[in-house]
Amino acid sequence: MIIILKPEATEAQIALIKDEMSKNGLIIQEIQGETTRMIGLAGDTSMLPPEMATRYEFVERVMKVSEPYKLASRRFHPRDTVVELPGGVCVGGGGLAVIAGPCSVESEEQILSIARDVKLSGASLLRGGAFKPRSSPYSFQGLGLDGLNLLKIAREKTGLPIVTEIMSPEYCDVFARDVDVIQIGARNMQNFPLLREVGELGKPVLLKRGAACTIDEMLQAADYVLVGGKSPVILCERGIRTFETATRNTLDISAVPVLKKKSHLPVVVDPSHGTGHWDLVCPMAMAAVAAGADGLMIEVHNHPEKALCDGQQSITPFLFDNLMQCVTRMHKIIMDDRSE
Ligand code: PEP
Ligand code: MN
Repeated sequence: MIIILKPEATEAQIALIKDEMSKNGLIIQEIQGETTRMIGLAGDTSMLPPEMATRYEFVERVMKVSEPYKLASRRFHPRDTVVELPGGVCVGGGGLAVIAGPCSVESEEQILSIARDVKLSGASLLRGGAFKPRSSPYSFQGLGLDGLNLLKIAREKTGLPIVTEIMSPEYCDVFARDVDVIQIGARNMQNFPLLREVGELGKPVLLKRGAACTIDEMLQAADYVLVGGKSPVILCERGIRTFETATRNTLDISAVPVLKKKSHLPVVVDPSHGTGHWDLVCPMAMAAVAAGADGLMIEVHNHPEKALCDGQQSITPFLFDNLMQCVTRMHKIIMDDRSE
């Protein structure tokens, strides 16, 4: 629900209504529109009296929000959210933030070599899985806390903020302390207790779309994180399950403009998991940028043929350098076009 205030509403009156609504257990978000001031209410509004506008003389009218998500909705937050990270890195706000690195951290030599290469090519964040959500219990499961420590060394040497996946709430404290962006993987997009816990950590969360989840379900998952009021969310399209078998997943490029229309949150696209094939990564990265993505997540490995995970969709540092040139050109075209 959105309460639209009359222009003459005083600060004291606004404080009064906010207080009353929070006593009703509702989450309150102030919305500054072009000309009007509004209060967004998330939660169960069914107990509120229908005659709000007559009850409070400073209320112009009340608008029902029909979407099942509220805090992620552009109606609650008309302006684009920009997620600010250490080192002046921003996700959203017109730039193109590229997250690059291996599927999994495998060794100090591997992560340092890749981190240095992707930094030189212009990546702004380093990725690397330490805790891996593998479909088979017999596959490499990641180096765990040792992997996290190697990521920290790579951050120290390159200055790149680190993005890595959390799988269990038991590591929340460690991630809150050591990680710059906490990734929630596709398999955990609807792990609601985990979403709530990371929402309390005060660290940006990269929320990947579940392989069988709709856009509305993804935005409701984002609300689970945002309810905590502490952790901003970056959305990530990474492909969905369809009947098509030529690619690992079907990368839903249309999700980019749809998400940008429905939500204020920045949108990143992962064409590596989205396609499953190294040679499709660059064309789909360009398509994502052309569609308006705020960033990309790209799997890069110095020896893809020997990678312990997802080598078939990983590109070499040489190809990553080429990709960066392509997407930078595409991004410039899009930005020039917008400013005309
Ligand atoms: C990953 O990014 O390492 C990953 C496992 O991706 P997803 O959750 O999208 O499958
Ligand atoms: Mn992977």
